[in-house]
Amino acid sequence: MNDTATLTRKADFPGLLTPEGAPWHYLDTAATAQKPQAVIDAMSRAMGEDYATVHRGVYSRSAMMTQGYEAARRRVADFIGAQSENEIVFVRGATEAINLVAASWGMTRLTEGDRIVLSTLEHHSNIVPWQMVAERTGAQIDVCPLTEDGCIDLGALEALIGPRTKLVALAHVSNVLGSVLDARKAADLAHSVGAKILLDGCQAAPRMTLDMKALDCDFYAFSGHKLYGPTGIGVLWAREDILDAMPPWQGGGAMIDKVSFEGTTYAPPPQRFEAGTPMITEAIALHAAIDYVAAHDPDKLYEHENGLARKLREELRRTNAVTLFGPEESAGIVSFALQGVHPHDLGTILDEENVAIRAGHHCAQPLMEHLGVPATARASFGLYSDENDIAALMRGIERTRRIFG
Ligand code: PMP
Repeated sequence: MNDTATLTRKADFPGLLTPEGAPWHYLDTAATAQKPQAVIDAMSRAMGEDYATVHRGVYSRSAMMTQGYEAARRRVADFIGAQSENEIVFVRGATEAINLVAASWGMTRLTEGDRIVLSTLEHHSNIVPWQMVAERTGAQIDVCPLTEDGCIDLGALEALIGPRTKLVALAHVSNVLGSVLDARKAADLAHSVGAKILLDGCQAAPRMTLDMKALDCDFYAFSGHKLYGPTGIGVLWAREDILDAMPPWQGGGAMIDKVSFEGTTYAPPPQRFEAGTPMITEAIALHAAIDYVAAHDPDKLYEHENGLARKLREELRRTNAVTLFGPEESAGIVSFALQGVHPHDLGTILDEENVAIRAGHHCAQPLMEHLGVPATARASFGLYSDENDIAALMRGIERTRRIFG
């Protein structure tokens, strides 16, 4: 039996209350996580009494901020089992991380006839950048299908890849179905044909222990705001030798070695990929978020949300009025359809009950097409979720059913 009691103190999260101080049953953590007070405080200090720029200032406040910014990079490296902090590039979010790889690595390494493998369940941010690369380079996109229960079909992946496959780019955890990829197996398959593998870790980073060495992938992308940190910061991890060989994608200050009109030389990674004044306060707050998450037993994080997802699936099934999508084993994300009710109507009625779910295509239109629906209702859990949130959702669903007869 999984432990589905609250894993952490809801009181740590001011966002989990309504303006009137009532509990707000927030079931949209897959979109963005609520922030613990420790993160809000860290951000506020960094924007207040500690604030200054990084890397350039000779005064002590700037030196301190630089230390804070670089300490955040080391914290991320440690959190995901990177070999070195030089493998950590701070970006705006997972979308920017994938676009960086597409623009720098994809545009320079792929040529006509090369193949990029994606899967049916990818988020648009792991589809569109590759379509742009394909359009410019003449590379082709192959789509790996899903198993019946909504996992990326690794048997099909094995059959799909070949000598022209140069990149396999897959979600580690689906943002719609919660399905978890056997990432190491996918990496081994990609490497068996000499391809690189990029994992979109947006939904995995907040829920699973990450170890870049054990995963043996080439690129890993995630967003800070889904990991209980602020918006505007994310991480691209890549193996140092790969980053070393990649050209810059944006030019400006901070990414150079020397600039002259005769020619410019570039800084080594990660600075080569961080043009301009970086996300200083966001990086420092992300450090605080990782400290907060890492204070919990990492195995319990997954178990907790997986347990809540199972419980919710059981309850939804009991209504006999719900279609459930995705596998039974889910990383805390449950997509469903209530018969005869559009997900947006359900979401609107639930809002009146202080229950927040997501209704829509979740930036995964090809997956919606595969499921044969225009949209799903999605409930997603975080470390602060508990069974009271499920109970409130089920009460709201019962009310919706009464309204719709
Ligand atoms: N990939 C997945 C699986 C996601 O869930 C998301 C966010 N919904 C993204 C990529 C994009 O993340 P961001 O919008 O933070 O860049």
